Amino acid sequence: MPVTQIEFPILQSFFCVVEGVTGMPPQPLDASPEQVERQQQRERQDEQSVGGSKPKMPKGVVLGPDGKPCRSCTSFASWAAMSKGETSNTTMSKPPATAIAAAEPPSDCPPDVDRLGNHTWTFLHTLTANYPTNPTPTQQSDTRSFISLFGKMYPCWSCADDFRSWKAENAPRVSSREEFGRWMCEAHNAVNVKLGKDEFDCGKWEERWRTGWKDGRCD
Ligand SMILES: Cc1cc2nc3c(=O)[nH]c(=O)nc-3n(C[C@H](O)[C@H](O)[C@H](O)COP(=O)(O)OP(=O)(O)OC[C@H]3O[C@@H](n4cnc5c(N)ncnc54)[C@H](O)[C@@H]3O)c2cc1C
Repeated sequence: MPVTQIEFPILQSFFCVVEGVTGMPPQPLDASPEQVERQQQRERQDEQSVGGSKPKMPKGVVLGPDGKPCRSCTSFASWAAMSKGETSNTTMSKPPATAIAAAEPPSDCPPDVDRLGNHTWTFLHTLTANYPTNPTPTQQSDTRSFISLFGKMYPCWSCADDFRSWKAENAPRVSSREEFGRWMCEAHNAVNVKLGKDEFDCGKWEERWRTGWKDGRCD
């Protein structure tokens, strides 16, 4: 209700004074047509940004900071569903059943979140496996820098965000190969837990990534 319609004696006499001084009746404090239009425009934009009239995406397709689908952040199943035009208006959830059959991209296609992750973990654990048992201060400092840059540059931005948050609570331990290998194993387990996977036994990181299993099947 416009303020000029409020029935309140003191307010009414204030309006009379205003009219007497300015020669104009008090203006309602309602929004002007321009303000109303601007507000409606903002509301339309808000609706679009939360999915109202945004193009519908298949479940599981993660958007990049530019608002476009991020291939490195999305599983191939969801990406393929999007390419084939299967839609849903929710994101970050499980892929549709029709897309599950094609879970992996052909080997010569850009990596999805899983292939990128699997290959990156291979690199990261192999890095720890080849880390010196007694690293110099420079090697330790270089390693900290590398982990820090890695957390900024990993191409799946949502993965990188979570990695940086985890790292903020779990500072890299780089004083020996054993320490670094365990730290990396714990970092990987944090992602495993997030994705609902089993945790890896970090007591076995070296067998998995450096020496090979004790049963000799890697030799
Ligand atoms: C930094 C980072 C963050 C990621 N964040 C996400 C994310 O937010 N969302 C998402 O969907 N995917 C994420 N990924 C990818 C995800 O971790 C997996 O790589 C992906 O799901 C493929 O899983 P996979 O079954 O091939 O096995 P991977 O998890 O890739 O593991 C490869 C192999 O490593 C071994 N292994 C498993 N756990 C450990 C451990 N703790 N220590 C040592 N060895 C181990 C196992 O032998 C396994 O087969 C991330 C990857 C990285 C590198």
